[in-house]
Amino acid sequence: EIEAPVAVALCGADLPRGFGPANAPGRSEAEFAHDGQITKSPIRALTLAALAPRRGALLWDIGGGSGAVSVEWALAGGRACCIEPRADRLTNIRANIDAYGLSGLVKPIHGKAPEALAGLAEPDAVFIGGGASHELFETLWPLLPTAAQLVANAVTLETEALLTELHARHGGSLTRIEISEAAPLGRMRGWQSARPVVQWQVTR
Ligand code: SAH
Repeated sequence: EIEAPVAVALCGADLPRGFGPANAPGRSEAEFAHDGQITKSPIRALTLAALAPRRGALLWDIGGGSGAVSVEWALAGGRACCIEPRADRLTNIRANIDAYGLSGLVKPIHGKAPEALAGLAEPDAVFIGGGASHELFETLWPLLPTAAQLVANAVTLETEALLTELHARHGGSLTRIEISEAAPLGRMRGWQSARPVVQWQVTR
């Protein structure tokens, strides 16, 4: 239980306001340079929670897109290799790394997984946000050290089928995330559903 003088220090009305960008994962898409291919804020928050960032831990972020997952991982104390085949998206990834001052912690890698994984330092966690396939998984799985976290997100039926099969074979948890947001509907409002995301999380 918090003693009274401490409670006053923590909750007093004369406290200074917080400053700077938000300090927890799931930052607004508006905080990142992107072309629309970005993991949406609430899904990103759940993804980072599943990845379980730890100080100094190395993430392979496969399908970097905007680099938002790598950036949020690094802001939570880790280091990341952000792999993305499209040059235009690498420009966004670099812009986000610079904007958050993370050039020593996030390395953009222009290439496609699984080929681009060769020669990278052993990861503590891997996120597959794009490029999921049997081939990628079969190459990736033996590269993972014991206790490494793997998280993969699917939006297509094909990737969902892949993750469903991998979950049957390797266990872990399979979660379907469905989010709706209030949006204008004529002169009133209605729930606008986002595409469901199926997330597979497994520990090696
Ligand atoms: N997590 C990202 C969004 C990922 S969108 C973010 O929050 O910004 C999926 C990305 O995967 C796309 O940019 C696509 O170019 C990339 N991709 C597709 N196949 C890939 C592969 N084989 N290896 C690496 N990236 C791939």
